Amino acid sequence: MTDNPKPLPQLAGVHAYVPGEAPKNTGGKTYKLASNENPLGASPRAKKVYADLAAKMELYPDGAARELKAALAKKHGLDASRLVLGAGSDDIFLMLGRAYLSPGDESINTKHAFAIYAIIAQQQGAKVVEVGEDNFTADVDAILRAVTPKTKIVWLANPNNPTGTYLPYDEVKRLHAGLPPGVLLVLDGAYAEFVKKNDYASGIELASQFGNVIITRTFSKLYGLAGLRVGWGYAPPHVVDAIERVRMPFNVSLPAQAAAIAALEDDAFTEESLAHNEHEMVRLADGLKALGLELIDGVGNFVVAKFPETKGKTAAEALAFMKDRGISLRGLGGYGMPNHLRISVGTVDGNDAALKLLKEFLGK
Ligand SMILES: *Cc1c(COP(=O)(O)O)cnc(C)c1O
Repeated sequence: MTDNPKPLPQLAGVHAYVPGEAPKNTGGKTYKLASNENPLGASPRAKKVYADLAAKMELYPDGAARELKAALAKKHGLDASRLVLGAGSDDIFLMLGRAYLSPGDESINTKHAFAIYAIIAQQQGAKVVEVGEDNFTADVDAILRAVTPKTKIVWLANPNNPTGTYLPYDEVKRLHAGLPPGVLLVLDGAYAEFVKKNDYASGIELASQFGNVIITRTFSKLYGLAGLRVGWGYAPPHVVDAIERVRMPFNVSLPAQAAAIAALEDDAFTEESLAHNEHEMVRLADGLKALGLELIDGVGNFVVAKFPETKGKTAAEALAFMKDRGISLRGLGGYGMPNHLRISVGTVDGNDAALKLLKEFLGK
């Protein structure tokens, strides 16, 4: 009764993350367009390395992930000693929360930011300060106005998920310049590889130059290794040191490290994936616009469409209609966007099927 073990009081406010749903089994072809996964799968080289390691499951991984760090440093021209690895970038966010947030601290994220930031801040007992956006886009002035002496972390996914919008690098630099040196700016570049804009940069330069910036990247999206859980961060030495103090020694598994190295080296697969995304994202967006849907102007590997509020045509009804027919999309009610759906760029077949069904749903 009343003498059950009591979890930390702040956990009462935590709403568990709701992941994208797998498609319903309809007996026919199904498509998951709900989690921004790579529709082409993963690098064949990564798959081979992973399969070969089935014979080595008794071994612990290299806790320091030296080979993977060396491969990342080579690929991106980085200092390997400033790299940190996580079981997905989520793990890095969690480690940052554990290292920098305690009850009474404030953690800033924008209104439609990736949900994990607020979850982690709440777990730590920190106050989540949610800042308004400008047309679904982070607003630098609004973020800077929200900073107080209690602010410890500012989280910014650039581009953001679920909106797909991004801040030009000049704006990111202006944000950083306005922050006190004691506030850590976390630049989450989960979709960085997909952005082909001259005014965009993921922020590696800021993380190299300043003491209060970390950038994170992931193998979950472009590299198609979401199921293996590998993410990385690039940070100043003292941030790396703090993360290393909270990191569990073997947080990235042995096959995950090896597959990530193989994936990094497989330029043919990443180029094919990028070319596919570039082409299919435009085709999917154009197809949705032709159905009369309004899209948020975004980048990444997904599109966000606004549905009418008319009964029979709403986002919630579209989500259910598609689900029943074997295509899962992402509802955004939990993000305060109940009239929008996020649709990941799928295979050619998947995108065709989604467009055809949505046409039927909208009665076009
Ligand atoms: C998918 C995604 C990630 C990646 O998470 P992992 O833990 O690396 O799989 C991080 N940030 C955003 C904004 C994302 O959409």
